[in-house]
Amino acid sequence: MTRRTTVGIVGGGQLGRMLALAGYPLGLDFLFLDRSGDTPAAQVAASLVGEFTNQKLLRELAQRSEVLTFDWENVSIESLRALGRSARIAPPLAALATSQDRIAEKKLFAKLGVPTTRHAAVDSAASLERALREVGLPGVIKTRRLGYDGKGQAVVRNRDDAHRALATLQGAPLIYEEFVPFDYEVSIIGARNRQGEVVIYPLNRNLHREGILRLTRAPWGDASLQRRAASHLRRVLTHYRYEGVLNVEFFVRNGRLVANETAPRVHNSGHWTIEGAATSQFENHLRAILGLPLGTTRARGHAAMINLIGELPARERFLGERELHWHDYGKSARAGRKVGHLTLLDNSAAARDARAQRILRQIEV
Ligand code: AMP
Repeated sequence: MTRRTTVGIVGGGQLGRMLALAGYPLGLDFLFLDRSGDTPAAQVAASLVGEFTNQKLLRELAQRSEVLTFDWENVSIESLRALGRSARIAPPLAALATSQDRIAEKKLFAKLGVPTTRHAAVDSAASLERALREVGLPGVIKTRRLGYDGKGQAVVRNRDDAHRALATLQGAPLIYEEFVPFDYEVSIIGARNRQGEVVIYPLNRNLHREGILRLTRAPWGDASLQRRAASHLRRVLTHYRYEGVLNVEFFVRNGRLVANETAPRVHNSGHWTIEGAATSQFENHLRAILGLPLGTTRARGHAAMINLIGELPARERFLGERELHWHDYGKSARAGRKVGHLTLLDNSAAARDARAQRILRQIEV
């Protein structure tokens, strides 16, 4: 019998769980590392329990795996680097490092000719004053690192707001950037493998509420918007000689794309690809990090993905709908927590949009 291939994953959240569920049909095994033994991933695969910086556990994870990957950005790069050449890690740590620092991310966009927001680094009242002069008002002040789901940021309408935000976020290195009065937000997901093959999914239109993704609809937009977003994404993938799945988020204003951030991993806005695309983002991430041929990304219809936040509604209320797919992450209820999602598929964008609106209203009752 041939030895089975194990993928090691740092982080055992719902993204890790969905990676494992996508990988079993390919004949893969999974081993996770997480601080808790009670994670969404631990319900479907073996897990090591300990800190993400625990070298002994990281070494064990690396030794037992063909390749190491991660299911969220805020893992310790130093700890992964310390594993040295013995561990194969994908995506590249350089891409992870950039995504952890909003200033580095903006520099990369500028270097690659990807339009992004005007911005300045802030770490004191003096540098804040300078940033307000250079970038102007209104703006958004954000922590440079460890931000997610809109946490660690504030909209700034005047100087008082700015200094108040500085006091609240005091201590952390910050970025001040122009406020973009966007028409809507989109993201684009693609995969590259070590042979240099690249595949790109149709564009996602994303709706956030209180900083958390609520609704994604895909495919979205006309051929021109898709082509421009794909070209920006391709530049990032090529720059890193990337291996794995990567997501880039944009604001859209008057038909123009303004890049906001990158995520060097499978992404919430790509969950619809499980049922809505020929190959899911999870399967393509695994194929990419293992150097396997990538699967086609064609959409199978018009998909809407709705995040289930806080607590799961009763699935019986929804499962009678045609082409509606339910995903329960096995988490306990907590305000603001992503506990599951549902995806619905339809034959036209208009029918999909109407159903998505109706289901959103039902969930909110
Ligand atoms: P982020 O953590 O950068 O993804 O920001 C979370 C959300 O805040 C985004 O999805 C936007 O809805 C909003 N946001 C962030 N930055 C800006 C900006 N410069 N202008 C307007 N809205 C923003």
